[in-house]
Amino acid sequence: MNEIRIRLGIDLGGTKIEIVALDPGGGELLRRRVPTPAGDYRQTLAALTDLVGRAERELGVRGTVGIGTPGSLSRATGLLRGANSVCLNGQPIRRDLEALLERKVRLTNDANCFALSEASDGAGQGAEVVFGVILGTGVGGGIVVGGRVLDGPNAIAGEWGHNPVPWPRDDERPGPACFCGRCGCIETFLSGPGLERDHLRASGAPATSRAIVANANLGDAECAAALARYEERLARSLAHVINIVDPDVIVLGGGLSNIDRIYANVPKLWGPWVFSDRVDTRLARHVHGDSSGVRGAAWLGGAA
Ligand SMILES: [Zn+2]
Repeated sequence: MNEIRIRLGIDLGGTKIEIVALDPGGGELLRRRVPTPAGDYRQTLAALTDLVGRAERELGVRGTVGIGTPGSLSRATGLLRGANSVCLNGQPIRRDLEALLERKVRLTNDANCFALSEASDGAGQGAEVVFGVILGTGVGGGIVVGGRVLDGPNAIAGEWGHNPVPWPRDDERPGPACFCGRCGCIETFLSGPGLERDHLRASGAPATSRAIVANANLGDAECAAALARYEERLARSLAHVINIVDPDVIVLGGGLSNIDRIYANVPKLWGPWVFSDRVDTRLARHVHGDSSGVRGAAWLGGAA
């Protein structure tokens, strides 16, 4: 096969595995998806190697391979942990794939892939420091510096969703219980279920996050108030990140990143919490949306 510089990215999800092949400019050469084999590690490895093999036969070239997963590799053991496809946890997935594919494989979590995708050729293109945030059923984050994912010795850099909401008000303490075992995590307020819980608690009426946004736009006072609380908490939570990382741009992804008003409102609210006389950090909506996971995985491969 020719040694052309293509990047293969794989998004390994709980229900589907997607592969994309990018040319050096980020153009998509190929995209495929298959169902994730249910609960079987060996079959998952086979599905991954089969996707790579078929893509390379079709394109006639060999590529670098990057993988995004919901979990992370322990640096100490090389084993995956924290994946919602639990059959993958405790497995040396990168080592096994490197042996099967006979090349180096890079692997990181889906929030890091999102941040890398947006930093490479999305809303953070050209920025030195990018903080990528996923606001969805969960809340995650990733940090990219100079085009590289910041991993850290614990492989948790950017895992901001399980910090507490900073400068909490009395009615935010201790805050809702989180699956991680603590209370009042950012995720318990800023995820979709978090917004729904907050609206229910204040209004007594259940509503989906989509309905809350739509009704707020139609003038519903309870829904507008819930969104205002959401924006104010997001502003405080991002101010905390700005004080530590000072990113050039913060890119939002996930379902709640589609709330139009947050891009104008949140930067007006974060000033008092940032330890600076002015804040030049940009808050931007994602460019690649649902493709960010698989595209970021491809960019992980680096130079072919
Ligand atoms: Zn938590």
